[in-house]
Amino acid sequence: MNPVMNTKYIFITGGVASSLGKGIIASSLAKLLQARGLRVTIQKFDPYINIDPGTLNPYEHGECYVTEDGAETDLDLGHYERFLGVYTSKANNVTTGKIYHTVITKEREGAYLGKTVQIVPHITDEIKRRMLLLGRTGEYDVILTEIGGTVGDMESQPFIEAVRQLQWELPEEDCMSIHLTLIPYLSAARELKTKPTQHSVQTLQQSGVKPDVIVCRTEHPLSTELRRKIALFCNVKPGHVIQSIDAWSIYQVPLNMHEEHLDELAVRKLQIDNYSQPELTRWKVFLDRIRHPSREVNIVLVGKYVELQDAYKSIQEAFVHAGAAKDCHVNVQTLQSGQITPDNVASLLQGADGILVAPGFGERGLEGKVCAIRYAREKGIPFLGICLGMQMCVVEFARDVLGWPDAASAEVNPQAGHPVICLMEDQKATTIKGGTMRLGAYACRLEPGSLAASIYGSTEITERHRHRYEFNSEYLDAFQQAGLKATGRNPETGLVEVVELPDHPFFIGVQFHPEYKSTPERPHPLFQGLVQAALKKR
Ligand code: GLN
Repeated sequence: MNPVMNTKYIFITGGVASSLGKGIIASSLAKLLQARGLRVTIQKFDPYINIDPGTLNPYEHGECYVTEDGAETDLDLGHYERFLGVYTSKANNVTTGKIYHTVITKEREGAYLGKTVQIVPHITDEIKRRMLLLGRTGEYDVILTEIGGTVGDMESQPFIEAVRQLQWELPEEDCMSIHLTLIPYLSAARELKTKPTQHSVQTLQQSGVKPDVIVCRTEHPLSTELRRKIALFCNVKPGHVIQSIDAWSIYQVPLNMHEEHLDELAVRKLQIDNYSQPELTRWKVFLDRIRHPSREVNIVLVGKYVELQDAYKSIQEAFVHAGAAKDCHVNVQTLQSGQITPDNVASLLQGADGILVAPGFGERGLEGKVCAIRYAREKGIPFLGICLGMQMCVVEFARDVLGWPDAASAEVNPQAGHPVICLMEDQKATTIKGGTMRLGAYACRLEPGSLAASIYGSTEITERHRHRYEFNSEYLDAFQQAGLKATGRNPETGLVEVVELPDHPFFIGVQFHPEYKSTPERPHPLFQGLVQAALKKR
């Protein structure tokens, strides 16, 4: 790697349709560049006006991903971390809301006295400042920037304009633009259609941004002839039209992109004197394992937002990683918690080798979660409860074992006779909703000899959090005496972070979110533990 090389910027825009997988393409290219020895990160610029997706319902936007430094971010940051094995931060996810908030705050402070504050230059300058921010740290050789939404959207325009200006300001060899589009297949005509792509690129070019490479999402291979046609109409070189064909796993996409020479086009365009081939041995081993598992196991994921695939993205991916580590395919069957009752719980969960109760907010489906937990506890089915899932296993135990039928979380019943889950002290005065939960990484000390400590192989861990309520320590002794042990505590505050049932084959509830830190190359111990226990039960 050339030590005096400038930071390189790759911008990824999308057109024709949303949900084409820009995040996966960005992650795949980043992975390939990283595998060539470059220091890489990815950031996402989202055109919506929310400051962050923390205040969005998962049905609107999928899972809210949380970084080490406590940013509530787009789920694509989860892909970035899983592909690269590198932590992202607050700086990696910027929204229109954040941009305007900064500019308007500066305006009130008088930073622009006498001036009319406008989209160009004030908003676009702030976008550009943030686009270049991570590059200025000197920690990265290449920064990939994914622009959310599709070109032509009203909200995207200032971001596209900022990309145009940077393409103009930065040296030619420091900047690259990739446009991702869809080539639909019309089955009646048995034809792949390029027109939507032509229009999308036209829209992009009308904004002054010239793509260097067009990545085409397609269900069928693109012929040389078709690629030439797209290249001609979209004003790029024929070799710069590449196909991204539907893959059997998102983790296969880096290899597909390498076959299509996407990483080579990038190092050429960016004049990176590093033509070594990407070193992907470990990645390929992982892929081979998920492709050819020798056994399988059934895990039921109990949650409130199961209708939407992306609502529990990190949990689903953590099972893929754990499955690979344990040489088995994990069938994750989702179950709507609102549907579970004491009468149907046995039939709904009969095929489960393991049960995971998901994080969440609010009252809907809570009693169903309690039913599922009781079933897991009584039938000795391996169980992992995450955040709300942990809180509900405390409620279930209080009601059934401690004999407190009025036990509840104060989140749904502030007047509960036994508020076994209560509002954290520092949350009591909080009235603002956005960004005010307990967020990000905190240390946790595990009880030596506990299941948790043996799973982690350590007693000192850190995990990421996103919650307002906590285990009510007033009742700690009662729980411990009755058999639900607090085996993980925050070393500073004493907050209970992990509970487990030593008499059960595998029953563990965690206040934090282990799923955010699982990657193919570092599968999370708790998910591995659950899968292992489920295999044993089977
Ligand atoms: N609603 C619960 C709380 O705020 C749990 C949050 C979660 O599951 N992420 O504490």
